[in-house]
This record gives sequence, structure tokens and C-alpha cells, in this order.
Amino acid sequence: MTQFLPVRPTVDECYVDRRLYPHGVAFMDGQYLPMSEAKISVLDWGFLHSDATYDTVHVWNGKFFRLDLHLERFFRGIELLRMRLPYDREKIVSILTTCVGLSGHKSAYVEMICTRGSSPTFSRDPRHAENRFIAFAVPFGSVANKEQLERGLHVAISETVRIPPKSVDPEIKNYHWLDLVKGLFDAYEMGAETALILDTNGHIAEGPGFNVFLVKDGSLRTPAFGVLPGITRRTVFDLCAEVGLSATAADISRAEIKRADEVFITSTAGGIMPVTRIDGAAIANGRVGSVTRRLMDLYWQKHDEPLWSTAVIYP
Ligand code: PLP
Repeated sequence: MTQFLPVRPTVDECYVDRRLYPHGVAFMDGQYLPMSEAKISVLDWGFLHSDATYDTVHVWNGKFFRLDLHLERFFRGIELLRMRLPYDREKIVSILTTCVGLSGHKSAYVEMICTRGSSPTFSRDPRHAENRFIAFAVPFGSVANKEQLERGLHVAISETVRIPPKSVDPEIKNYHWLDLVKGLFDAYEMGAETALILDTNGHIAEGPGFNVFLVKDGSLRTPAFGVLPGITRRTVFDLCAEVGLSATAADISRAEIKRADEVFITSTAGGIMPVTRIDGAAIANGRVGSVTRRLMDLYWQKHDEPLWSTAVIYP
């Protein structure tokens, strides 16, 4: 016999465990909401097909860091995915600022998302979908915790291959993460804390939420192929140009990364973060290297640079 669910949910079904949600403020469908109330339809293509693009920018000491670059990448992704937003750049800046301002966070992780949305007729044609914009601000989070930042992360190289750039353009920041999540589980099984996965040619690509650099004989290298052009990665290039360090984007083999003098990862979620062990073996002497430390210091100093930061106005 067919069973029908009650039309009105019970009190228990309405109960939202707020401990599951970080304190923060979201914007969706024209409204600002507490994080626990920001929900999308299960029919949204963003949920059903990962048909979405997004960007994450952070706020540090009350200022956005390199917001212009994040907006540029976000708008480019939207264009490449043939989506359309009802808001221009200025309005998005105002929405992001309001989310952070209302949340009160002085250090925040701020995400802007555009999903394909869904069509009012449940059409299978993506052109019929009404694209949806969502933004939120929650407390700042990092790939590496305090202890890991001090002693360096322990990383494992997984055999998992990152989705090919001909399938999903990595220039479009996306939620195709099944490869990265598989890499993480592989890494945990190998006793490591996070993972690096491979590109389609078997070289090092990137990890769950970060790019990677090696330092060898004073020069830096980061993979060029099949990776998200990270804003923190770009910042490392800018910092290297400023202090006269050589940095290039080119293939890195598994053997090369293990023989490096220093290795670090880069992400908006944590900045520049040292790696001191790969596949259970120490990188050089197993301590955080001097080039990494110097770049980490410069990176955080730059958060007060007027050209690279945008102040949030708190209510
Ligand atoms: N690579 C992937 C797959 C990512 O998801 C991210 C960030 O989320 C990065 C690299 C680092 O990019 P960014 O420095 O812009 O945060």
C-alpha cells in the first residue's frame, strides 16, 4: 500500500541541530539568512550534476584578500559555463561584504556560488534552467591546523588521476571532487594527513583544495597542467617576482617532489602551508624550509597591503 508522508512535518523533523552549522550568514534568493537556514532544492542541477562554479575568498583582520582576482575567476567560470547572473560585480561585492558584516567575523571564509539552478518545467535542457546565486561567510578555516603549520603536513601521493582538463576545464573552479576525496581516503590509509593526486600523464597535479610547489636549489616549481589556477598560487608567483626568486609552472614527477629541498601547498583556506613528509619519508631534513618560511611571512604581511585588500564595513 502506498504510504503518504504527513503534509506538515512534525516538530522533530523541523528540528535543526545548529551545532552542525558554523556560525555565519548566507545570501540566497534575495535574502540574508543564518547558515542553518540556507538550503537549496534537491532538483538544482548544482546538486544533481555538480553543475556549478564557485569561488572562495578569505577575510583576514577585517579585509578581503585579493577580492578582484577571485571575482575575475568567478565571472570567467560563469561565462565558460554559459550561465548568467542577475547581479553585476558591484552588487556581488556588496552581497559578500554584507554577509561578512552581518556575521561579524573578522577572519572569514567567504564563498560565492552560481549553480545551473532548475527549470520550472523540470526540463532536461540546461538552457531552460534559472541559474542561482548563493553566497555565505563562515569562520576562516585552514587545510592545515596550527600544529601542522609549525611542523609541516604529512602528505601521501595517491594513484588517483585528476579529472582530465578536456572533460572538465580546471580554469572553472568546480565541485568535481570525487577524485580528490578518493585521494584523501587513500592518504588516510597510508597514514598521511592529506593527499596529492596525479594528472593524466602521471605527474603531480594538486590536492583537495590546494596547489603544490617544490623548491629545488633556490628555484620554485608548480604543476602547469590539469590544475586549478589558484589565487594563492598566483600570489606566490607575485611574491617571488617581488623578492627575486625564480618560479615556473612545469611538470613535476613523483620522484622530483620527493627529492625537493622544500615542498609547500597553497590555498585560500590557509595560505602557504609547509609539507615535510611525503609517503612516509622526510623532505630534505624533515623541517620547514627557509624559502617556505619567508614566503609564509610575506604572504601574511601582504594582507595589509592596500592594493591587495578591501576593508569590510561592519554594521
Ligand atoms: N586546487 C583546487 C582543486 C582547489 O579547490 C583549490 C581551492 O579551493 C585550490 C587548488 C587553491 O586555490 P586558491 O589558492 O584560489 O584557493
